[in-house]
Amino acid sequence: MKKIDIVKKILDANEKYAFENVLFLAEHKKLCLNMISSPGSGKTTILTRTINDLKGELKIGVIEGDIQTDIDAERIRRTKAPVVQINTDGACHLSAAQVSAALRELPVKDLDLIFVENVGNLVCPSDFDLGENGKIVVLSVAEGDDKPIKYPGIFAKSKVLLINKIDLLEGGLVDFDIERAKTDARRLNKDIEIFPVSARTGEGMTDWCDWLRQSVKTV
Ligand code: MG
Ligand code: ZN
Repeated sequence: MKKIDIVKKILDANEKYAFENVLFLAEHKKLCLNMISSPGSGKTTILTRTINDLKGELKIGVIEGDIQTDIDAERIRRTKAPVVQINTDGACHLSAAQVSAALRELPVKDLDLIFVENVGNLVCPSDFDLGENGKIVVLSVAEGDDKPIKYPGIFAKSKVLLINKIDLLEGGLVDFDIERAKTDARRLNKDIEIFPVSARTGEGMTDWCDWLRQSVKTV
């Protein structure tokens, strides 16, 4: 079999599970968001801050994808949010089949919102639909403002862009043109919502949390 046929087969199999997840989420009327970024952009810190900021309002569950460890799942567990760990054992993205199994381990009925933290990688997770209601791409200012044009796929497909670590912009610690990143992201995706945040200091988290409050009502 040619390499291209194998890739097509894998993607077709993934689509089947993704569709199952779509049905499962629709049946339970739950919002599921797939968070994608390169390693170290702050996905887990955003999640722990979001869980804590929305405590008492929205019940959040997390599916944690990691190549090897359960370090991130342990950080989520400390917030008392239910979490299911998936170790991909080397694979650089989560598959819909893995998420399907994880969804059945979460107390979905008791939740308002499910986050999937994908494996840190800006490229191939964007090709593997998980059946989620939306993708959230995270870009930290430490990575550079050229990422939207260098990795257009994920920016074109995401509902939200979180520009994280904006506390580093103060004092000129990093060169990151936030307007350039926004313009390039909107050129790829005119509907993308953009929230500059610092999950470390809490700056900008209110608008992001408001977006989540609104979005859970739409499923
Ligand atoms: Mg993480
Ligand atoms: Zn991959």
